[in-house]
Amino acid sequence: MSFVLRAFQKGIDGVFIGACHLNECNYIAHGNYHALNMVLLFKRIMEHIGLNPDRLRIQFMSGAEANIFVDSTNDFVKTIKKIGPLGVSEGLDQDTLAARLADVGKLIPYIKVTMRDKLAARAEGPYDAVFTKEEVDKLFAEVIAYWIDPEKCQACTTCFRRCPAEAIISAKGQIHIIDQDKCIKCGTCFEVCPPKFRAVTKLVGVPAPPPLPEDQRGVVRKAKEKEVA
Ligand code: SF4
Ligand code: SF4
Repeated sequence: MSFVLRAFQKGIDGVFIGACHLNECNYIAHGNYHALNMVLLFKRIMEHIGLNPDRLRIQFMSGAEANIFVDSTNDFVKTIKKIGPLGVSEGLDQDTLAARLADVGKLIPYIKVTMRDKLAARAEGPYDAVFTKEEVDKLFAEVIAYWIDPEKCQACTTCFRRCPAEAIISAKGQIHIIDQDKCIKCGTCFEVCPPKFRAVTKLVGVPAPPPLPEDQRGVVRKAKEKEVA
């Protein structure tokens, strides 16, 4: 998915993927099913951000089917010429298109985790129904964000040590902060924050509040707070 996204971010008008016939993969992984699922999902994402999904195509063929390769690529080129330049034909200015593609890029790890089961399945047709428009619209409307409550964080560093994406800003005695641009929304910090603190909150469909300024991140230890009181 990231490769396809990158092509569109670089202004490519159409992406064509050639793959071996389904059920004829030489490897047990059957990666062509995975590629097909990725393409179908990405087409729905393209629809969601206002791009024509016909700009992306997957074609199955064997190494001996040069005729299919020639015919399908010629047909694809004809289709893309008819659709026209990326974004312009869809009425999107360049800044809007760039911003929407960047937003999708940030969510790709999250989308892959959320859709993990479907992406791994060897889907049977009709393929257009594998990922529905409603499902993808909901996916974007209910994006999850994790946020560390500054009132509760005790800087124990557990989340920082367990985060697989190095997305948590940590310093000794400082309230920890999630870098939302790096966070892949795996939920590990939510699970590992000790129950006595419960400082990590899961937000659905709303963005995380802005991080505290650096000079206000000093942790007030709960025990000391009681002493002062
Ligand atoms: S949700 Fe996952 S990636 Fe994001 S900050 Fe927490 S542990 Fe790191
Ligand atoms: S695990 Fe919880 S208490 Fe510990 S640093 Fe992370 S958010 Fe703060």
